[in-house]
Amino acid sequence: MPRKCTICEHPKVEEINKALLETQNIAKVAKQYGVNYHALYRHKDHIPAILTQAQEAQEVAKADSLLAQVTELRDKALSILDKAEQAGDLRTALQGIKEARGCLELLARLQGELQEQTTVNILINPQWLSLRTVILQALEPYSEARQTVAQALREVESNAG
Ligand SMILES: [Zn+2]
Repeated sequence: MPRKCTICEHPKVEEINKALLETQNIAKVAKQYGVNYHALYRHKDHIPAILTQAQEAQEVAKADSLLAQVTELRDKALSILDKAEQAGDLRTALQGIKEARGCLELLARLQGELQEQTTVNILINPQWLSLRTVILQALEPYSEARQTVAQALREVESNAG
């Protein structure tokens, strides 16, 4: 049965792994960290699994976070559309659009498309463009409301640009 690996439980296991990967010299790393050579030799076999697990966990966490953002964005877009369909309360609908824009910016930042301190260029973000199109299409039957929203969108965009 597998014994507990003393290296895996070592407080500096990450440093040890890094040192092992860099030098491939077990004796040197064992001496450097004052650990047992044989324990380190057995531990060396764990490293590929450890690295794969860490990477997978990171990717899953990243994907979950992005998915949550996209879901939030979708919910906001749907709520905008609900309100736009009623076409009576444009002020609230426009507030929703602004919130959706903030959400898109957050999403874009998470994806590394935007960097802090640089000009926020939401205007060429494909998700913003498709949301914009969906909003304007939903307002097609209400030409007056559509014009007001289109005007507001231009204002939001010129603030962003
Ligand atoms: Zn180990």
